[in-house]
Amino acid sequence: MPIDPGPRLDDLVQPFRIDPFALRGRLVRLGPMVDRILSQHDYPEPVAAILGEAITLAVVLAGALKYDGIFTLQTKSDGPVRLIVADVSTDGAVRGYAQFDQDRLDAVDAEAAGSGGASPSVPGLIGSGYIAFTVDQGEHTERYQGIVALTGATLAECAQHYFRQSEQIRAGIKLSVARSGPNGAWRAGGLMLQRVPPEGGYGVIADDVEDGWRRAMVLMSSATAAELVDPQLSPHRLLYRLFHDEGVRVFETHPLEARCRCSRERIAGILRSFPPADIEEMRQDAVTTVTCEFCNTRYDFAPDEFAPLASA
Ligand SMILES: [Zn+2]
Repeated sequence: MPIDPGPRLDDLVQPFRIDPFALRGRLVRLGPMVDRILSQHDYPEPVAAILGEAITLAVVLAGALKYDGIFTLQTKSDGPVRLIVADVSTDGAVRGYAQFDQDRLDAVDAEAAGSGGASPSVPGLIGSGYIAFTVDQGEHTERYQGIVALTGATLAECAQHYFRQSEQIRAGIKLSVARSGPNGAWRAGGLMLQRVPPEGGYGVIADDVEDGWRRAMVLMSSATAAELVDPQLSPHRLLYRLFHDEGVRVFETHPLEARCRCSRERIAGILRSFPPADIEEMRQDAVTTVTCEFCNTRYDFAPDEFAPLASA
């Protein structure tokens, strides 16, 4: 019989509800998982930090959706960090990467980079552009995509702006990412509260529910960045500390892991769809090399592997 390792405290989504105020939420705690993703790349500190936040945000948001497939968060912008991608599968596999310009990054000051416990700055690091959320449930299903201009000082604010724009859902989001000491392991945490749409629409919301929302948002904002990533503070204890007077109830957690979906077969399939001239151009010393942007795994293909199509 396997020994029960006790309740898992990291790499999880902890759903909860505050029924008297018709609120539901999720607390996300990331430890070895986010450290593994960020360590697979040799990103400068500010890039790793903002990617860590984006990964946390993707996990927080994915938990709000009923879907069977892949949820993707992507930013595209004109700042030093020009692209961020993070995706989460229904079974809890998470991955992500960023593209950045080192010279422009060097010119970013420490404050914008989010040192000293502040969240990395969207205007300073990402600049202007958009943030998109996509749900892909596989072939023969419609892709859902929401897209909005990046508006806000932090990624959490940008996501909240998105919800304000896109009708029904009222949501509050808090994100935190930090290293445990200089060059220590990365940790991240996220908290999201959303109001459950009432039967009959928002027109019938009672005053006490509206007060409850405001009160819950104040309590949520009292959670510090350090508490969100504190390995000594269990998810239950943090939620109890924040919302015990409001009657918070917790539900079963969902585990998460760092896992890429790339494979030799998959990459070969993509290469086969390229024009032969492009493959030829990618070849070096007769070998075609492709490195997965998400996990940095390198795949080498021998000269004859694409011969049938190249000669067609
Ligand atoms: Zn990969």
